[in-house]
Amino acid sequence: TSTQLPKTMKGVYIEKTGGTEVLQYKADIPVPKLKDGEVLVKNEFIGINYIDTYFRTGLYPVPSFPYILGREGSGTIAAVGSGNTYSLTLGARVVYMGTDAYAEYTPVPAIYCIPIPPAISSKDAAAAIIQALTALTLIRESHEVKKGDWVLVHAAAGGVGLWLCQLLKAVGARTIATASTEEKRMLAKNHGAEVVLEYHDNGDEFVKKVMEVTGGEGVQAVFDGVGKATFDASLACVARKGTMVSFGNASGAVPPVTIARLSGKNVKLLRPTLFNYIATREEFEKYVNELWDFMTKDKMHVRIHEVYPLKDVVRAHQDIEGRKTTGKLLLRP
Ligand code: NDP
Repeated sequence: TSTQLPKTMKGVYIEKTGGTEVLQYKADIPVPKLKDGEVLVKNEFIGINYIDTYFRTGLYPVPSFPYILGREGSGTIAAVGSGNTYSLTLGARVVYMGTDAYAEYTPVPAIYCIPIPPAISSKDAAAAIIQALTALTLIRESHEVKKGDWVLVHAAAGGVGLWLCQLLKAVGARTIATASTEEKRMLAKNHGAEVVLEYHDNGDEFVKKVMEVTGGEGVQAVFDGVGKATFDASLACVARKGTMVSFGNASGAVPPVTIARLSGKNVKLLRPTLFNYIATREEFEKYVNELWDFMTKDKMHVRIHEVYPLKDVVRAHQDIEGRKTTGKLLLRP
């Protein structure tokens, strides 16, 4: 079943990997046909994630070209396919994770599509789904953060970073946050970080500060989405029996690590992806419901950097890669 659908739509795709010049805004992309278990979402807001730049540059492989970037959005259901579509109905206001999001219409696996509660706006839902679920699963599963734990969060004023600051505060942890500018550090503090630090190009100086703050022990966990530039200092900041969670590569991929390096403090090293924490509908619903609770009951702030018109996607990619943004970047078709 479907509403009246046009034949073509606006969207952004790439035909090869590269700089922002490979992003092509088109007005004549065929409206996608649904496969079994999919629903078609008419996008209202599309989320930008740092991972979109990895697919664009080729750091992560693209299955085939032309390829429509974008992994999340919110809007309304314009068509329901065959198979198990999790009781989703035409016209329902939903948020989803998937692929092909930089477009007016997106075919979405129903398993990762869920109605938005009335108390939450479509804008906030699109802004939250990937980055907030990432933050939530990191603190529940990658390292189960406990009250009173010292935790180090890099790029704390970014999309995932501001969620980490707020969630860690809510569970009673003590956060040491890094960000590249004074303004970003203030923002991390306003979102719950207890101590804010510059990265320091000289890693030793940074590690010394973290040790001072934690009474010489180090932190129980590091959540590091910056990657190459921060890995060594992050590992040095972990307490005995603590956890080093490397979950992204904003500064480049972390080079191979010798496991012998972990023996100094019996450190657990993890390289998680959100997807492997929400591989089933049950897991997805559990974390989404927990997220809605945090957003409504704990009144978490959804920081939106800018809502860019879809045709301004090049500027949006330049801004996030240029470290000019805080919180979430959204596109509007
Ligand atoms: P952000 O909004 O955090 O943007 C990236 C930030 O990284 C920048 O704002 C910047 O903050 C910091 N940064 C540090 N070094 C660099 C550099 N050399 N170039 C660019 N930025 C740099 O993005 P997201 O919230 O979307 O993602 C954050 C990280 O989390 C990414 O690495 C992403 O891949 C990862 N991620 C991983 C997931 C998973 O499942 N494993 C899921 C979602 C996100 P500053 O200026 O303060 O340094």
